[in-house]
Amino acid sequence: MLSFMSAKIRLYVDHPLGEGQTVPLSREQAHYLFGVMRLGPGGQVLLFNGRDGEWRAEITGAGKREGAAQVLERTRPLQAPPDLWLLFAPIKKARTDFIVEKAAEMGAARILPVQTEFTNAERIRQDRLQAHAIEAAEQCGGTFVPPVAELQKLDAVLADWPAGRRLMFCDEAAAGQARTLSDVLAGEPWAVLIGPEGGFSPAERGRLLDLDFVHAVSLGPRILRADTAAVAALTLWQQALGDWR
Ligand code: SAH
Repeated sequence: MLSFMSAKIRLYVDHPLGEGQTVPLSREQAHYLFGVMRLGPGGQVLLFNGRDGEWRAEITGAGKREGAAQVLERTRPLQAPPDLWLLFAPIKKARTDFIVEKAAEMGAARILPVQTEFTNAERIRQDRLQAHAIEAAEQCGGTFVPPVAELQKLDAVLADWPAGRRLMFCDEAAAGQARTLSDVLAGEPWAVLIGPEGGFSPAERGRLLDLDFVHAVSLGPRILRADTAAVAALTLWQQALGDWR
């Protein structure tokens, strides 16, 4: 039933993928595949795990609460995004979810929620955000899922900054005045930093601008909301230095 379209269903599995492997399907996946999509044994799905590319698999077990699929052949190799991290200060729940979803779609390699001085969120649900990144990868045809880190203090992340990685500091105080990304150096790796609704504190801005890996950039003359700014910054970076060229 529906086998002509069933191979279009893409699922993320946290399991090794290789020819002949049997992969267990979770309760949610069983509900979706067998309950919602009415797939049964013999139906085909595409599986990816963020490491081994995308594989065609055939349903071999279709229970109410669980299922299994047998891996047939690889349909696509792993396509890792460029080495770009997104650092952002969490905002309201729905907008934070949006940022993570868009970052996964647009090709960020790692997502790091950071607590800045004006960040209101004290905690995040890392597992929920990771689930959003997985869902985005399932829907956009991605074979890679960016890991979402636990919330960390911006200062701690900066203190532990890896050598050689540049930081595109989206600074609202420089709106319309600072250099744009095309004026700064090329190459990888990079990270993008987006502040919270309240922006960056003067002390924080001072600390950032003193660091030699930090490049302040403007996202134009208007102040964007943080979720818009994240999408805009990722677009700019992908266009100038990433895999959209
Ligand atoms: N309340 C602040 C704005 C915060 S906007 C104020 O009025 O100044 C949220 C975040 O989006 C900022 O911290 C910054 O990282 C980014 N951002 C928004 N508009 C920007 C712009 N025009 N240039 C650079 N960064 C911008």
